[in-house]
Amino acid sequence: MTEDDIEAIEKEMLEELKRPQGRSILVCPVCGSTDVTYYMDLKMGYQYQCKSCNYVGVLVLEADVTSSPEK
Ligand SMILES: [Zn+2]
Repeated sequence: MTEDDIEAIEKEMLEELKRPQGRSILVCPVCGSTDVTYYMDLKMGYQYQCKSCNYVGVLVLEADVTSSPEK
């Protein structure tokens, strides 16, 4: 392995670190839909709303974007 190779790997690792950590999508705990948006309730505060089943609540699942099976 040459010095250039090591430099390239180091650069790659730095790029990896720069990426936003914990990038995930919101998943509805009721129907499993990813069509979940933030929902602001004046009384209850910050919640989530599922557009598929109209679930509203503070509980929401998070799925990793990279491992999401969208094929
Ligand atoms: Zn839902």
